[in-house]
Amino acid sequence: MRILLSIAYLIVITLGLRYPILGTLVFSYMGLVIIVGKRKKWCSSYCPRGSFLDVMISRLSPTRPIPLWLLSKTFRRTVLVMFLGFFGLQLYLSGLFAPWPEDGLIRLGTVLVRMCILSSAIALPLAFWNNQRAWCSFCPVGNILRRIPQ
Ligand code: SF4
Repeated sequence: MRILLSIAYLIVITLGLRYPILGTLVFSYMGLVIIVGKRKKWCSSYCPRGSFLDVMISRLSPTRPIPLWLLSKTFRRTVLVMFLGFFGLQLYLSGLFAPWPEDGLIRLGTVLVRMCILSSAIALPLAFWNNQRAWCSFCPVGNILRRIPQ
């Protein structure tokens, strides 16, 4: 299962800009996992990037202890605010605030794929430099999921 998720992640970051609906599908998949009550297991079992980092990148990562500054609340909150701001700006620039356009799912997919590529451009160097899960210590998506009440 996690190998398939890793492959799905690779497909999204390599082909997602050409086929933006892939971004929407991954987003829907995350929604489905949450709806069926598996939110707490998202990061350990269901996240495509988390799976890719564990299954494929862990062999290439030095797996050093994650620096404390990456784990700090201040850093996590700063990244969360920047991520949400950038996400909101892209939604706005893509015309995704009301009224919803006819090709809204494609536009949304493009935004989601861009966010995925951008975060991967941070996550992968961090994995090779420090620890395959260094990105996860301050990942905005993981941060938001942890804040959702049961
Ligand atoms: S912290 Fe982010 S990238 Fe890591 S497994 Fe969770 S959602 Fe995925």
